[in-house]
Parts: sequence; structure tokens; C-alpha cells
Amino acid sequence: AFDLGLADFEKPKLSFADVGGMDEVKDAIRMKIIHPLQHADLFRAYNKKVGGGVLLYGPPGCGKTLLSKATAGEIKANFIALGLHQILDMWIGNSEKNMHEVFELARQHAPCILFFDEVDALAADRRDLRQSAGRNLINQFLSEMDGAQSDNDGVLILGATNAPWHIDPAFRRPGRFDRTLFVPPPDQPARAAIAEVMAKNRPIGELDPIALAKKTEGFSGADLKAVFDLATESVLEEAMKSGKVVPLNTKDLIKAAGRHKPTTKAW
Ligand code: ATP
Repeated sequence: AFDLGLADFEKPKLSFADVGGMDEVKDAIRMKIIHPLQHADLFRAYNKKVGGGVLLYGPPGCGKTLLSKATAGEIKANFIALGLHQILDMWIGNSEKNMHEVFELARQHAPCILFFDEVDALAADRRDLRQSAGRNLINQFLSEMDGAQSDNDGVLILGATNAPWHIDPAFRRPGRFDRTLFVPPPDQPARAAIAEVMAKNRPIGELDPIALAKKTEGFSGADLKAVFDLATESVLEEAMKSGKVVPLNTKDLIKAAGRHKPTTKAW
């Protein structure tokens, strides 16, 4: 990944296998994004519309960014991510020009996923954010998304938000964010699947993913990552004493889970 000043740009190696759970969301993304790109002629033959954007919503830390990156990896596309601060920075100065350049960059690097994190920063249905400069930036965004001046062939737009009800309906029109997908907090089987993903790159003795999932009610994917990190730190301490790799076991993870406070509240 290298920093373009405005946006992060990379070609992710991740795939859906690196995202635990979310089977329904993955299927919806396959239908809306992956298949239309891979079978463009077939979709055209059935006059099935392709393009438009997908809005992912759900509680923080439950994998919206990870899933977007993995989607890029699945189709070997480039990935450009823009966060809240980068969007807000655009307010000041050359906002429309910057927005245009981000879309141009994506067009030049198609197939490309353009990911807007915290898209509500831009699309919030709030008057104070919609004055003068903000208004122009919003209009520029919508016209870029419509492909008003340049074709968006091979540019796939994903947005993420924790507050979809704040999104201005103008952003939801056909050809814009016309599909909304809920990325839920992981249920027990999903937490077990996430634990298996996280175990892949670490020395594991024995792992009982279901037992861990049972002890992590209300934990997000990000919380589970914190649990793995905490448990890793404690076995690393032991490992440093002995100078040998000490594998992680279910009990280490359950102990770490007891020390971590989950962030996800009821959704
Ligand atoms: P936010 O709304 O705060 O931007 P988000 O929904 O985009 O959050 P991510 O940034 O994708 O969440 O997730 C944070 C981290 O948690 C990921 O980098 C990953 O390590 C872990 N994680 C979350 N969900 C999953 C999952 N389903 N499978 C594997 N890891 C996950």
C-alpha cells in the first residue's frame, strides 16, 4: 500500500476466505459486484443493469472495511480507500477537484474498488454539513458516481456507515448506493469462523473455536482480534523466557477474552 496523500491505494491479496462468517453478505456481493464484472456479456444479454454502488452498514469493527478489501482481492482489483478525515479535508480547498481526481484514479486503475469509509460524513442528511463548500463536494460526488462526465466502467463503489438512517435519499437513487447490505455483529458460528481465520497465521496448539465463540457473546471481529493479540502477548512472554515458540491454546484465548471488554452494543 502506498499513500497518495488523498487516499490509500493497494492491490489486496486478501480473499473471502480471510473474512469469517458473513455468508449472506458475501453472496449478495458476489451477485451485485463480482458476477457482473466476470460475466459482463451475459448480464448485458439479459439487460441486467450493472454498476451502482453498495452501501455496507452495521456496528463498528464487524468487518466492513475488511470485506471491501477482500472483495477487491476476489476480483484482483485495485482498492482505494477514503476515510472520514480525507473526505472532510476535501471540504477545505480544492474539494471538487480532489473528488474528481479520486474517481479518475480509480478509472485509470480499473478494475478498481473505491471504498468510502464513514460515508455519512459526506452523505449525512444534515443541513450544517450541506452549506456552500460541502454542497459542492456532495454534488461533485454524486455526478462522479453517476458517471456524468466519464464512464465508470470497472469502477465499483462501496460505502460504509454505522448510521445508514442519516444518509440523504439522493445518495440511494438507482445507479448510486442502490443496494444496502447489513454487516451484522458476528453470531456464534460466525465468531467461531473468525477465530479460525485468526488462527491461521499463528502457532496454535489446540483450538476449539466453538468454545471460544461461546465465551465471546457480543464481541465484534475487532474485539476477537484484540483477544488474539492479548493472548499472543501473554504466550510471547513465556516464549521469551524459554527462547522457544509457545503455542496458543483455547484456554489462553478464553482467559484473554475475560480481560477484554466488547465494544459492540445491541444492534
Ligand atoms: P468501522 O465501522 O469501525 O470502520 P469495520 O466494520 O470497517 O469497522 P473492520 O475495520 O473491517 O471493521 O474490522 C476491524 C478488524 O477486525 C479487521 O481488520 C479484522 O482484523 C477484524 N475483523 C472484523 N471482522 C472480521 C471478520 N468477519 N473476519 C476476520 N476478521 C475480522
